[in-house]
Amino acid sequence: MGESRVWVPAAAGLLLGMCGVWAAAPVPAGTDPNEALKDLMAGNQRYVEARRAYPHQDAELRARLAKGQHPIAVILGCADSRVPPELVFDEGLGDLFTVRLAGELPDDLSLGSIEYAVEHLGTRLIVVLGHQKCGAVDAAMHSPSAPGHIQALLAAIQPAIQGASEAGHDALDAAVRANVRHVVAALEGDAPILAEAVKSGHVRIVGAEYELESGKIELLSRP
Ligand SMILES: [Zn+2]
Repeated sequence: MGESRVWVPAAAGLLLGMCGVWAAAPVPAGTDPNEALKDLMAGNQRYVEARRAYPHQDAELRARLAKGQHPIAVILGCADSRVPPELVFDEGLGDLFTVRLAGELPDDLSLGSIEYAVEHLGTRLIVVLGHQKCGAVDAAMHSPSAPGHIQALLAAIQPAIQGASEAGHDALDAAVRANVRHVVAALEGDAPILAEAVKSGHVRIVGAEYELESGKIELLSRP
């Protein structure tokens, strides 16, 4: 549950929070992505079995984290209120760098947030977390247009789910999974920061789907 996590002291010149002065800084040695993924999946198992540990939420850690953060994973997830990453992975303060948008398709601003975590916080695992019965994906499947800025969401998702089908999954679920895989591939190819970090083996990006009723998270295979 994170006892082995590497806490790197904040070095002089490190970026002082997202709103601080942007300064060149060494990338901290982050948690190994495979270890981070094991930690997340163990937390999800506890959540599914209703034996959450509520780790990393004490006042002492809170005070320590005020000096700097080194989250073990970026979670790029849907904004859906039923899928809060810290709860479903049973993690705590400073553990997850969370970026959420309906349909989990990142725009430039979200990509900048993810790159920030990789470049400046040393995070080496990115999880793209979709979920069953995603309203955004459902709307993209069935509504050619939508009012206001919702249209931009649908237009972004629609190409990712064109012709999606997967044995053992209904049409919506196949589309959710296709969308997650599309986002994983897009992040892996996103030059220069993420593409290079993935190519060098420094960063790992995985897709996952959350089951609303059981709470279980399934890691998705490559297409
Ligand atoms: Zn959703």
